[in-house]
Amino acid sequence: MLKIAIQKSGRLSEKSIELLQDCGLKIDTVQRKLIADAKNFPAQILYLRDDDIPQYVADGVADVGIIGENVMLESGKPVKVVKELGFAGCRVSLAVPKDRQYDGPEFFEGKKIATTYVRILQNFLDEKGISAEVHHISGSVEIAPNIGLADGIMDIVSTGSTLLSNGLKEVETVLTSQAVMVSQPALTAEKEEILEKLLFRVNAVLKAKGYQYILLNAPNEQLEEIIKILPGMRSPTVLPLAEENWSSVHTVIEDNQFWDVIDALKEHGAQGIIIVPIEKMVS
Ligand code: ATP
Ligand code: ZN
Repeated sequence: MLKIAIQKSGRLSEKSIELLQDCGLKIDTVQRKLIADAKNFPAQILYLRDDDIPQYVADGVADVGIIGENVMLESGKPVKVVKELGFAGCRVSLAVPKDRQYDGPEFFEGKKIATTYVRILQNFLDEKGISAEVHHISGSVEIAPNIGLADGIMDIVSTGSTLLSNGLKEVETVLTSQAVMVSQPALTAEKEEILEKLLFRVNAVLKAKGYQYILLNAPNEQLEEIIKILPGMRSPTVLPLAEENWSSVHTVIEDNQFWDVIDALKEHGAQGIIIVPIEKMVS
């Protein structure tokens, strides 16, 4: 029996369950108890807070877990990544008030930085040889500079709109993160075999449904911004529309990225957004 820890509720839970279901595991999701058996696979699902998962996996309470790399690195626990899952993409970045001049990480020398990611931040500062005062706060990090608590912050960024609305600008990407499956370093042979079987299925699922095609109409003056938002495989195709000063933009995006970028696209005037599945892709 392989014990798989996933987030009970939050940004990772639905995708984690979906992945396991796509791998053919029948999981009871209606009534999320702490532990549920998969009905047709030798696995048990443990629903936990994401921050607790590294510890549980390290202790062997769970054998594997699905968490953000950010949470894994911040925990410092001895778990190993067995598969990058490609969803819940985000950055952990440093940001400063947008009117401050920023020329490089030396900006932070002697300054106060608020974050929930103390370990990741300290590692970054050590690496750059910068000494700064690190303030641990557990939520609403982005308001710290406004209330005079810090000169800058380090936090999760996905589209950057939260930073923007708090008068901050992103100045350094310290980490890029995605959901990963982690395991205990030493699994029994029996568990290892079940994990292999699961990973075989995970690989097949990720490969088959990794990408979608996005089409949208955009006002020309916003094209540059919109193209920046689209995390394409390469440069998108831009075609003029019959309506003057409007273009149609087509590109391939990763399956999971749509919901992350939709708000930002709309904010920049994108209309008629269409997402279509890709049946086959040769690159
Ligand atoms: P829990 O109650 O389980 O502790 P949480 O509030 O800490 O949940 P969520 O907000 O659900 O965590 O985020 C879980 C993970 O999703 C993050 O650790 C990160 O890896 C990822 N993530 C991706 N995009 C974002 C985003 N825009 N904001 C926050 N987390 C994101
Ligand atoms: Zn959490």
